[in-house]
Amino acid sequence: MTRFIFVTGGVVSSLGKGLAAAALGALLQARGYKVRLRKLDPYLNVDPGTMSPYQHGEVYVTDDGAETDLDLGHYERFTGVPARQSDNITTGRIYGGIIAAERRGDYLGATVQVIPHVTDAINEFILADTEGNDFVLCEIGGTVGDIEGQPFLEAIRQLSNELGRDRAVFVHLTLVPYIPSAGELKTKPTQHSVKELRSIGIQPDIVVCRCDREIPESERKKIALFCNVRLEQVVPALDVSTIYEVPLRYHEQGLDDVVLRAFGLDDAPPPDLSVWEEIVERVRAPEGEVTIAIVGKYTGLQDAYKSLGEALVHGGIANRVRPELLWIDSEVFETEASLHQLEGVHGILVPGGFGERGAEGKINAARLAREKGIPYFGICLGMQMAVIEAARNLAGIDGAGSSEFPGCRVPVVGLMTEWQTEGGRAVRSAGDDLGGTMRLGEYPCDLADGSLVRSLYGGAERIFERHRHRYEINIGHREALEATGMWFSGMSPDGALPEIVELKGHPWFVGVQFHPELKSKPFDPHPLFASFIDAAVRQSRLV
Ligand code: GLN
Repeated sequence: MTRFIFVTGGVVSSLGKGLAAAALGALLQARGYKVRLRKLDPYLNVDPGTMSPYQHGEVYVTDDGAETDLDLGHYERFTGVPARQSDNITTGRIYGGIIAAERRGDYLGATVQVIPHVTDAINEFILADTEGNDFVLCEIGGTVGDIEGQPFLEAIRQLSNELGRDRAVFVHLTLVPYIPSAGELKTKPTQHSVKELRSIGIQPDIVVCRCDREIPESERKKIALFCNVRLEQVVPALDVSTIYEVPLRYHEQGLDDVVLRAFGLDDAPPPDLSVWEEIVERVRAPEGEVTIAIVGKYTGLQDAYKSLGEALVHGGIANRVRPELLWIDSEVFETEASLHQLEGVHGILVPGGFGERGAEGKINAARLAREKGIPYFGICLGMQMAVIEAARNLAGIDGAGSSEFPGCRVPVVGLMTEWQTEGGRAVRSAGDDLGGTMRLGEYPCDLADGSLVRSLYGGAERIFERHRHRYEINIGHREALEATGMWFSGMSPDGALPEIVELKGHPWFVGVQFHPELKSKPFDPHPLFASFIDAAVRQSRLV
């Protein structure tokens, strides 16, 4: 029997609902339960694929090629369960389906309405593809009280009635702010937010309170009283030094116990949290430190590179060091003079990105890393920039560039119009819609015998990694580039699409067309990140 846990948020946004859901999922998993996590986003976009990273943070791509909310990244990093298209829905997608059905005449003359048609569609999504799971955790995006969130709250209210109380539990996350001038914690915002939830017919079973300090019992009692829950159902969630501590702290505060009790499951075995203890220990007490420069575009907002930052932390966990991350806007490096800033770092990473702004700065950073023997990791656009750099400065291809950038004379990176997928051939053209038309999701890559990457992936001949890009390295320049020492060591199985390049004779220089950061976990650091940080450790001993 699958049980459902609905996670809502109140008072303010950015409370970390996604992390809360992910950590609760990890706790239930540590007790032997099978879990799935999903996110319901009330905004009108069909998916976050066309949203600016500044608006929405990173777009998290799943194996099956869905462009989803970054919270799905937290879910995967905490539970290891690969997210799917069926784990993220938006108002835009729900309405898109309903309007298409209405045009086909599927509603047979009925008036199509929010209740029941939209709410039914939401519940169909929640219930679909859940077989075999003990718990499905559904996070509702936004904050209780938002207009666009109402159909979602109404839908889960209806669904909890249908399922019965032993199959549906509501967890509400709120903020208990400290007011310095009064020297007091304030429970009123929590009371109001629960009142709002109850006015739509949802009585939360558990109120999780984010707070920057201990919440005294007197205040917890007040919250319990006004929110109509028992004292033990008010669970404090205090600030932590690393996000990987959240499962441990929640367990200490009894969150998993109260959740299970709310379902009437009183005799669940205790969780085995040794993995999380080990991770936290390694993050808290590293044996050294390395400095990694991330030379990108959206460096002002770290959410834009959420998975990347975490994957670097995982690389640190694998090597027992703390990576100190310097986020630098690549535009800075368009002038040669500022490049020397990078000389002392132990690793340079150029991440994925779109558009021309700052591209020359990335190319300069790749050149410096190549010339000075500094470990270089190029991801997606970062690989493309490294290839353009090698084409210009090693292979002597004057005017080498990417057709993504206006005025490019020699497209060493260009638009491939057709490529092989598992199911046949995919096509792409310059005039395509921007949404959902990139090479998205999992694709195979064959690793060359004797290459660095082959050894890093444990000798595997074929690997699968996730993609999100429109342009490809132009295979036509392979010979000229390989003659310079840039080895195309990972290729699509049909040999048409370069997936990985590495530089012979360099301490560590790897470019990948895919996004390995999406699959890295704290308990299973991605081999490329583990090896990159290891190379940075070796570099730190040299400088
Ligand atoms: N802009 C490049 C492309 O579309 C790279 C994309 C990325 O880095 N994710 O191919």
